[in-house]
Amino acid sequence: MMIKNYQPQSSTSTLLNAIDDVQLGIVLVDESNRIIQWNSLASQWLGVDSLHNVELSDTWLTEKSIHLKDLNAQPLTALDLFKANATPIKVESQHQSIWLSAQCDATHWQGRPAHMLVFCNINKLASSFTQLQRQTNQASLRDPITGLSNRHNALERMEDMHKHGKRYGSQFTIALIDIDNFKRINDTYGQNFGDTVIARIALTLKGALRETDFCSRYGGEEFLVLMPETAMMDAVVTLDRLRQQVSELKWEECPSPITVSAGVHTWQRNSSIEQLLFETDQRLTMAKNAGRNQVCGDLV
Ligand code: GH3
Ligand code: MG
Ligand code: MG
Repeated sequence: MMIKNYQPQSSTSTLLNAIDDVQLGIVLVDESNRIIQWNSLASQWLGVDSLHNVELSDTWLTEKSIHLKDLNAQPLTALDLFKANATPIKVESQHQSIWLSAQCDATHWQGRPAHMLVFCNINKLASSFTQLQRQTNQASLRDPITGLSNRHNALERMEDMHKHGKRYGSQFTIALIDIDNFKRINDTYGQNFGDTVIARIALTLKGALRETDFCSRYGGEEFLVLMPETAMMDAVVTLDRLRQQVSELKWEECPSPITVSAGVHTWQRNSSIEQLLFETDQRLTMAKNAGRNQVCGDLV
């Protein structure tokens, strides 16, 4: 910020406080990082009454319980303030938490080298950013066609269930569901219809499963379902009901039923996620080989 041709009519501190009107916090520090001038917005944003005779150091920040963080919530030091170049900094004090953009420039004060820190309140901008970041994170976990979780997210979930199972002995069952003869559907009725089929079957799966079950789009026309605290028998019954529902859906474009096949397997203690997926995929292949539109799992 430049103040040109300013004719001093009052003291410097009055000038600095006049800067409050343009919503900037100003702090001037000498060569030993001691604060020599500041305006009231700066002290307000740092969450302290006065910056008189303060050395802007980590010790002072700790003393005043002021925490500085970057956009990734990583801690920043007092030194980082002096390197700031329009840097977003979250200032957390006992009374408030505020996002500031900080800029530090070398300057002179009464003939001696000094640094001027200029803060600007970016709370509104930061909350839009955080919201956008949250939406981006959510979007990166979802498959755009079905709105289901994607493979990456499903594997992470399975990792958690696997850890939980190993630690507490809780059982879980998984299922791989694949749309039958989907290539032929695409080739006959077009890719757009194919996408509609995937989305509608996804919706049917979601509607038929329990809230605690986790349904994801595992690949092209394949879905992975995770069923915590579920034994094989219950899972097979659920999956077969689902298979039936899909086969009864009516399609305007396509007169014959569209069906799915599924492989189901329960996690065995000491087996890995890769083994579990492999076993489940084998049962899916068995269901396909047995003529499709069926569910395959080991019922004893
Ligand atoms: P099977 O009964 O043995 O599963 O036969 P299939 O034809 O369903 O299996 P195949 O693996 O031969 O073909 C799957 C097809 O799914 C091929 C691929 O182009 C199509 N596909 C994959 N992802 C999508 C998608 O997002 N949209 C559409 N429309 N098609 C997709
Ligand atoms: Mg497939
Ligand atoms: Mg298929």
